[in-house]
Amino acid sequence: MSLEHLWAGWRHEYIVEATERERAGGIDSDRAACVFCRLAESGPPSLANLVVWRGEGSFVVLNAYPYGSGHVLVLPLRHVGTLGELNEQEAAEVWAATRQAVSAIERAYEPDGLNMGANLGRAAGAGIPDHVHLHVLPRWSGDTNFMTSVANTRVMPETLQATWHKLRAAWPDA
Ligand SMILES: [Zn+2]
Repeated sequence: MSLEHLWAGWRHEYIVEATERERAGGIDSDRAACVFCRLAESGPPSLANLVVWRGEGSFVVLNAYPYGSGHVLVLPLRHVGTLGELNEQEAAEVWAATRQAVSAIERAYEPDGLNMGANLGRAAGAGIPDHVHLHVLPRWSGDTNFMTSVANTRVMPETLQATWHKLRAAWPDA
């Protein structure tokens, strides 16, 4: 199976699962059904929860469905769907954690560049639209067609566990 197929499959299942949860009960009214809330409540960073860093109001976790190695998500601990719902302290901590994630990725992977951003709302591509999250991922020159033409010839360079160790070791204040 090609990586393109594998990753698209994971992502597809992820979105389908989230959509079905929404239809079943309304994810926005049910924090217990939110995978990000479960992660937020999963305790300190560990290989089990793949949380890389955890603060007072935000945390950073490996994307379990990465576009490539080093792909993390930065989230508030609280279940809110929009940036506007974050209080000032949460907003400041999400931004600080994003900067730390960028630094850790740069140190651990020495990429040619990084992407950071958020898909706000399902129409924008968010798989879990009701718990706001930022993506941060390393990029390399020439990887722009990674998901298409090159997918069959690239191999996933490392496991999520290996990524976790690398980013923990490179985290600015870990
Ligand atoms: Zn949530």
